[in-house]
Amino acid sequence: MIHIKSQREIEMMREAGSITARILHEVAEAARPGITTFELDEIAERRCKDLGVKPAFKGYQGFPGSLCVSLNHEVIHGIPSSKRTMKSGDIIGLDFGVVYEGFYGDAAISVPIGKITPEAERLLKVTEESLNLGIQQARPGNHLFDISHAIQNCVEAVGFSVVREFVGHGIGRSLHEDPQVPNFGPKGKGVLLKEGMVLAIEPMINAGGHAVRIEADGWTATTVDGSLSAHFEHTVAITEDGPEILTRYEGDNQ
Ligand code: MG
Repeated sequence: MIHIKSQREIEMMREAGSITARILHEVAEAARPGITTFELDEIAERRCKDLGVKPAFKGYQGFPGSLCVSLNHEVIHGIPSSKRTMKSGDIIGLDFGVVYEGFYGDAAISVPIGKITPEAERLLKVTEESLNLGIQQARPGNHLFDISHAIQNCVEAVGFSVVREFVGHGIGRSLHEDPQVPNFGPKGKGVLLKEGMVLAIEPMINAGGHAVRIEADGWTATTVDGSLSAHFEHTVAITEDGPEILTRYEGDNQ
C-alpha cells in the first residue's frame, strides 16, 4: 500500500530532508585523502546529536554505522571502518538519512577524493544526471517506471549499467515504504503517480557489468567484475506542480 502524505506530513518531511542534506553536505566536505571512513561516520553521528535528530541507518537491521560509505567498486552499504583510509583517486559513495519527529529523510552522493580518472569523473556525472532525469518524471499522471526508464536510458546510452538487486523506495514514517522504485523498466508502466507520494529515487550505477555480490561482512555490496560504482539519491515529494526535492542542500542559511 502506498501512503499518500498530507501537506502537514510533507512539511515534516521537508525538515527531515533539509537536515539530511545539510549533514550529508558536511560529511562530503570532510571527505579527503588521509581521512578514514570511520571519521566520516563520527561527523555524521555528532551532527545528528547537535541537530536533535536520529541517524536513520544506525541499528537498522543491525547496521553498525550512521553512514554507509562505499569506496570504488563497492556499490552500497559499506560499513565505516577506522582501517579504511581514503586516498587520492578514490570515489566514495555516502548514503545517509535521519529521523525527525517520526519522519525519514534519505539521500546519497558520490564524490571524488583528490584527483580521479576521467572514467570515474564520467561515472559520477552520468549517475547524478540520471537521478535528475528520473526526478523530472516524478509528477502526477506519469507512471512509476517513467522514472525508472529515464534513469536506465541515460546510463545505458553511455555504456554503464544499472544495478538490479537494489532499488529506490517510498519513504515517510518508515525508511522503506511501497512502492519499490527500480532504476530500470518500461516507460508508461507501473503505478500511476499521484500528488502526496514521496519517493527515495536512487540510481546505483556500475561502470562495467550490472552484477553485484555481498561481501563476507554481510552488508557491503560490490561489483562482481571489480568495476567502479556510483550512487546518488534524493527524497522527492510529488506535488501538483511536479517533483519537489526534499533533500536538496540549500546552503548554510537553511
Ligand atoms: Mg534509500
